[in-house]
Amino acid sequence: MSNPDTPDVIVVGGGIGGLGAAYSLSRKGLRVRVLEQAPAFGEVGAGIQLAPNCTRILDTYGLLDEATSLGVVPEAMVMRDAVDGVELTRLDLRDLEARYGYPYLVIHRSDLHGLLLRACERAGVELVTDARISSYENTDAGARVTLASGETEEAAVVIAADGLHSVARQLFADDEPVSSAYVAYRGTVPAEHPRVGGVDLSEVVVYVGPACHFVHYGLRGGELLNQVAVFESPKALAGEEDWGTPDELDEAFAATCDFVQGGLPHMWRDKWWRMFDREPLMTWVHDRIALLGDSAHAPLQYIAQGAIMALEDGWVLGEHVARRRTADGVVDWDAALADYQAVRPEHCRRVVTTSRQWGELWHLVGVAREQRNALLRARDTYDYAFVDWLYGPTALFPTDEPAMFEPIPLDAAQVVAV
Ligand SMILES: Cc1cc2nc3c(=O)[nH]c(=O)nc-3n(C[C@H](O)[C@H](O)[C@H](O)COP(=O)(O)OP(=O)(O)OC[C@H]3O[C@@H](n4cnc5c(N)ncnc54)[C@H](O)[C@@H]3O)c2cc1C
Repeated sequence: MSNPDTPDVIVVGGGIGGLGAAYSLSRKGLRVRVLEQAPAFGEVGAGIQLAPNCTRILDTYGLLDEATSLGVVPEAMVMRDAVDGVELTRLDLRDLEARYGYPYLVIHRSDLHGLLLRACERAGVELVTDARISSYENTDAGARVTLASGETEEAAVVIAADGLHSVARQLFADDEPVSSAYVAYRGTVPAEHPRVGGVDLSEVVVYVGPACHFVHYGLRGGELLNQVAVFESPKALAGEEDWGTPDELDEAFAATCDFVQGGLPHMWRDKWWRMFDREPLMTWVHDRIALLGDSAHAPLQYIAQGAIMALEDGWVLGEHVARRRTADGVVDWDAALADYQAVRPEHCRRVVTTSRQWGELWHLVGVAREQRNALLRARDTYDYAFVDWLYGPTALFPTDEPAMFEPIPLDAAQVVAV
């Protein structure tokens, strides 16, 4: 008989990935305890983009209406050249919603995190703070974690959603986060500020430029303009410790159009995010310990799928737990974790490697930039070949995983000399 004080599942990390998994598993009737190292649950940063492969899951969870009421459902996603500001291509997000059945949503990170936290509270998830895990081990009955305090906790399964610098990942790989030498500045501007005058808050806009890019979109029902400025740091390339500083920000965007440069004074200049990812990892399950979210597959953010993958991981795990439960309620964890392992690493490998390629495409210079621009201008607004593999229903089995798109070589472009 199980001990009522012992949860079925321990989730380490209360970020978007950990809370999403905790909610998914508690919906399936499991007792879940989340152990978070911070003194309070929360998220730092500003906006986050949620594509239909995520809003579909939020809808299944009964959380989409709340998410939509907190965010913005934009009309279009537009790509422009950061140097001359000219539009290169666009997605019609109303048509995209009709195609995939769910909206493209942008939301403040803290609003998404808050709604997951409230959902966990309602579902009876035990939420514990000030609990830093320093080691993991499998046991005869499941798995055990040891806290920095020296205490231990056990459950049938431990899900490690402990982020980019995951301790649990050390059980699976002897690797480190990979620096891209790019850094992101973020910031929000109130809608009544002159900077926002003339900005269409119903659009998600990305300006792609030489070794830099700039993104903006509306947040909180159009009350805020969210801005992100990303660039390659010369100091990082030179191996200096102190990289990504505000002087580098201004210098990196010196060749961009007035609109982009006008956004730079509005970035938060006292904090910046160095962009790291991880090499793809193809094994995430070690007996009763499993990785989830950034600990398994931290990507560069160029196709905006990091948090989405984390939420998909939790949903997939929940579905397999439900499939693998016998009539008397006992979960065959080995089978459920094997199902999770069979489908998620390959999908996330594709996202992590495509995100890197996307970043390279955005940041091209010289002739390659001209070729990219020609290819993007030639793209039909209603051509979904590049997103079909991402935005459809999340695969539960490897055979459901859609085919990848065929990349178009840059030299296929018809560049018109001016
Ligand atoms: C600039 C930028 C823009 C992005 N834009 C998007 C976007 O538009 N769409 C999108 O889907 N994704 C986006 N992402 C990616 C997304 O933010 C991450 O992939 C996602 O937040 C990862 O969630 P996580 O829960 O796996 O990890 P984290 O958010 O890192 O959470 C890990 C949690 O574990 C806790 N923890 C860590 N170690 C321990 C320990 N030892 N013991 C206990 N607790 C521990 C941490 O305190 C933290 O709360 C973006 C990322 C960046 C940097």
